[in-house]
Amino acid sequence: MIISKKYCWACKKLLNFDEFKEVNQVFDEIKLKKLWNHPSLQFYCCGCYTKLVRRDVKRILLDQNEYEQALKSNFNPTVWRRLAIIYYDKGDYKRAEEAYNRVLELDPTDLNSAKNLRCLYQKLRKSKISSKING
Ligand SMILES: [Zn+2]
Repeated sequence: MIISKKYCWACKKLLNFDEFKEVNQVFDEIKLKKLWNHPSLQFYCCGCYTKLVRRDVKRILLDQNEYEQALKSNFNPTVWRRLAIIYYDKGDYKRAEEAYNRVLELDPTDLNSAKNLRCLYQKLRKSKISSKING
């Protein structure tokens, strides 16, 4: 199969198929080549993609309405993975749980997030028990 030339949708940098393969290891090569050669699919280079994720994460963190909106309209598992970690660090476990569930909905192969969610549940269970003892 011929590999067509692809350019970053944002900065127009020439993209490299091997790089694309490396960051999308969940898919096999045949599937990746199909995606890559699809005439109407656009991709970002790693730099632009990272910027995009940061921008979304920041927007969602700053604004309650954005958060509610994103739950319905943001389908990027990378964004939710970051949010889950940030909410967890802030001690906002309800949102961390929501974000991890969202990641797993969008990317069921993400074993690391599944593990983190399990740890979160354990933590929540423990804190419930200790608050019963103390209160
Ligand atoms: Zn770019």
